[in-house]
Amino acid sequence: MKAIVLGAGVIGVTTAYELARDGHEVVVIDQREDVGLETSFANGGQLAANHAEPWAAPGTVSKALKWLARKDAPLLYRLRLDPALWAWTLEFLWNCSDHRFWKNVERILRVALYSRERYQVLRGELDFEYSLRQKGILNIYRDGHEFDLALEKARTMKELGCERLALDRKGCVDLEPALAHSTQLITGGTWAPHDESGDCLAFTQQLAAHTRTMGVTYQFNTKVLGLDTEGYKIKSAKTDKDNIEGDVEGDVFVLAMGCNSQMLAKTLGLKLHIYPAKGYSLSLPITNPDSSDAPQISLTDDRYKLVFSRQGDVFRVAGLAEFAGYNTDIDEQRTKLILDNTLKLFPRSGEADQATFWAGLRPATPDGVPLLGRGKHENLLLNTGHGTLGWTMAAGSARIIADLANIGTPHIDMEGLGWERFA
Ligand SMILES: Cc1cc2nc3c(=O)[nH]c(=O)nc-3n(C[C@H](O)[C@H](O)[C@H](O)COP(=O)(O)OP(=O)(O)OC[C@H]3O[C@@H](n4cnc5c(N)ncnc54)[C@H](O)[C@@H]3O)c2cc1C
Repeated sequence: MKAIVLGAGVIGVTTAYELARDGHEVVVIDQREDVGLETSFANGGQLAANHAEPWAAPGTVSKALKWLARKDAPLLYRLRLDPALWAWTLEFLWNCSDHRFWKNVERILRVALYSRERYQVLRGELDFEYSLRQKGILNIYRDGHEFDLALEKARTMKELGCERLALDRKGCVDLEPALAHSTQLITGGTWAPHDESGDCLAFTQQLAAHTRTMGVTYQFNTKVLGLDTEGYKIKSAKTDKDNIEGDVEGDVFVLAMGCNSQMLAKTLGLKLHIYPAKGYSLSLPITNPDSSDAPQISLTDDRYKLVFSRQGDVFRVAGLAEFAGYNTDIDEQRTKLILDNTLKLFPRSGEADQATFWAGLRPATPDGVPLLGRGKHENLLLNTGHGTLGWTMAAGSARIIADLANIGTPHIDMEGLGWERFA
């Protein structure tokens, strides 16, 4: 069987690996000049199955209203003449009830925990260096109210299979000595010991290099413009190349184009609720890599929605969300916000004057659940809409898609993961 994977981010490359592993001929097409150059480029680096919580949650609307007037808000929503944003927002609001929140947590968790299992299998098969740290993720809280809510949530998450241990301020500092230098008040934290962190781009690049040795071919600098159909099947991918590589025929097509997936799906009459949620990251060279000045474990600052992870000798900080269309311009006010908060929390972590910034677009669905499974055409497989947790869910999602391509049954229940939930 010949499989065509559309998109060479972490999702597309991991899918190419699983398909090649099953013995299929695989071609990956991407508009960029190499793998992982869009949203998978400089993300927060967390493999955070135990943080499988969607943004659409009971308290989100009241928080978002408070943030509307603030320039330092973690979330910016720019009201614009954009029907796609309005439709997405309505679905988002509908998903903010307590009942729907927990339903969505269960769905995300199903994929994320399966993915954690698949990463273990993958690590057994491959030997890569991508700054993997298996020290858990510590969430820190600034006041008693935030902390109490987190503890309540941790109890319910435990029933769903997620372990988060409660720590007081001293427990947090014992676990992460770099917090001792913080100028911020920290009330307590919850620690998910089984979560991990690493460098998503290094992982994607090395996996792609490995897939080449398995026979996978990559067609770069090639933009997919549409899909040619014949009855209920996709026949070929139409690209912007007018040579022999222009129309790429295959038996099965995997849609893994991140935020652009919905545009291509639309040409087939398939509506995918994906909207770009812009985020930023900051990379700081660590001043003293061997000291405890920069954190050793990965952390999340719940109030400012920032995640921190060490990637080799670089300290990566990522977060913020902006709903403002498809632009990746760097807004200096927003990057300053990240840098200031980082230096308050970890004053000795890195060389602030050498900081580099990046912005990327999370392919966000309104309920936070990815879009996995068959499209309307029987040989179109969707592997997209992974939002805030694309790297976390990549290995599991890829295996699900390979199982579907083999006309097999995925190892997890597919209830509520497909496009049909928004139809
Ligand atoms: C600030 C930030 C922090 C994050 N932190 C984390 C984290 O800590 N942990 C985590 O798990 N996730 C995190 N994420 C989310 C994660 O990065 C994404 O979910 C993931 O990268 C999505 O991967 P993807 O392969 O679907 O998309 P992408 O990486 O965007 O790949 C899509 C590919 O499709 C290609 N493409 C698009 N259109 C076309 C076309 N027409 N023709 C050909 N090719 C096309 C693009 O060039 C691109 O290479 C973060 C995201 C951001 C923005």
